Amino acid sequence: MKLNEEILDELRVEPGKRAKISSRSTTETRTDWFGQETKAASGVARKKVAEEDLSSYVDELSRAQDLLWADGSHALLIVLQAMDAAGKDGTIKHVMSGVNPQGCRVESFKQPSTEELNHDFLWRCTKVLPSLGSISIFNRSYYEDVLVVRVHPDLLDKTHEVPKKGSLSTLWEKRFEDINNFEHHLHRNNTRVVKIFLHISRDEQKKRFLKRLDDPAKRWKFSPNDLAERQHWDEYQKAYEETLTATSTAWAPWYVVPADHKYALRALVGGIIVSEIDRLDLKSPKVAPEKLTLLDEAKKQLLAEK
Ligand code: ATP
Ligand code: MG
Repeated sequence: MKLNEEILDELRVEPGKRAKISSRSTTETRTDWFGQETKAASGVARKKVAEEDLSSYVDELSRAQDLLWADGSHALLIVLQAMDAAGKDGTIKHVMSGVNPQGCRVESFKQPSTEELNHDFLWRCTKVLPSLGSISIFNRSYYEDVLVVRVHPDLLDKTHEVPKKGSLSTLWEKRFEDINNFEHHLHRNNTRVVKIFLHISRDEQKKRFLKRLDDPAKRWKFSPNDLAERQHWDEYQKAYEETLTATSTAWAPWYVVPADHKYALRALVGGIIVSEIDRLDLKSPKVAPEKLTLLDEAKKQLLAEK
């Protein structure tokens, strides 16, 4: 099963065009889901469709990952960025549930350590890039250095790259350029980069925070810092808008996925990842004729064992 091209086009930020996240829906896609008549259906019916679709994407992803691994010529890097409580963790857990852990890693990027701050901002991410044949998911990434650091420029004081007063705007431009070049380099070396922004509304974030605070099993997930960052909502949206606009490229596109309904979010992310691997048009490796003779010989020997 494939996510239809119309939805992919709708979610993708066209290179060179504005991302316009404020006019993108956080609840649904304009195009009917997966070509089915779900637009008019009730929430329950839509959820059922999305869950069935997610389940087929999970199976598809397992097949696609086997091919990626067997072929060994390409790697896949999935970058997930979002406001707090948008569902990054749940998405990884559900979408990647059928994937063989041997060929997949999740890397989470938190506040940088002193060692990390003593390097350029891409360093800690380059150390854990996926090897050919495998998939890495970045739960946050080097994009934090043009998002949280842009919202809180005082964080820059700890780095070597402190710009002279008044030159902050050129710093972000330079970082965008570095990111685009870095991702182009990865693309040229057979790492496909797919970037997904989970687009949640401010109201939905409030609901999810309240749910966490009310549920004893989920309370641990809430950090007082989440509330502090929420106060900077508009600045984050602006930083995301500029970042997605400047860094959605032909070789590493951004997808903006409506995230207010977790069931839809997960199905769409599953569909995007499957479509990226399918685009590589990988084939199972053929066994060379000389090896076939060896395999026949091995079989004969095993059958002849007493
Ligand atoms: P969750 O809250 O779902 O467990 P999370 O990704 O929000 O996951 P936290 O430990 O809550 O993880 O937060 C990590 C924090 O680290 C985020 O606020 C993020 O903005 C911050 N961070 C990540 N990279 C950088 C960076 N390069 N500079 C400064 N802060 C960063
Ligand atoms: Mg958090």
